[in-house]
Amino acid sequence: MTYSQWFEMQGNLHAEVMKKLEGKTQEEIIEYFRFENMVKNEPDFCPLYKDNKKCHDYEKLNCYFCACPNFRFKDDGFEKQDGKTLFSVCSIKSRDGSQFIGDDYIHQNCSGCIVPHRDKYIKNHFNKNWFEAMKDVKVFSETK
Ligand code: SF4
Repeated sequence: MTYSQWFEMQGNLHAEVMKKLEGKTQEEIIEYFRFENMVKNEPDFCPLYKDNKKCHDYEKLNCYFCACPNFRFKDDGFEKQDGKTLFSVCSIKSRDGSQFIGDDYIHQNCSGCIVPHRDKYIKNHFNKNWFEAMKDVKVFSETK
């Protein structure tokens, strides 16, 4: 699956959940997206839910921003670094982020970072439309 395919899929899953929450306050919506509630009530939202597993070992994990608004990806790559294609980066250069470096690719590794999973961050960047909240995440080639 490409980044773009995943992005579309996750945005649509988010929209499906949001439909059920019409009329709820921001606080109620954020509360609904807590990991413990999502595991019970939205089993299709994340493949880890079936094993009751968190993507980050964080007690108050919130799944509203399953993907991070600070993430940047480009399906055909940004540039070459030491002969490897850089496919994704962190726009704020979080000190908790790192890189997956393979033979010919480099991907942003967010496994050590909980920035978008904190309630405070979600409140500050809240947007009921996930695609709007994530509008800068997908980077297009100049030719597109
Ligand atoms: S490293 Fe953290 S802040 Fe940066 S894109 Fe990943 S989750 Fe977001």
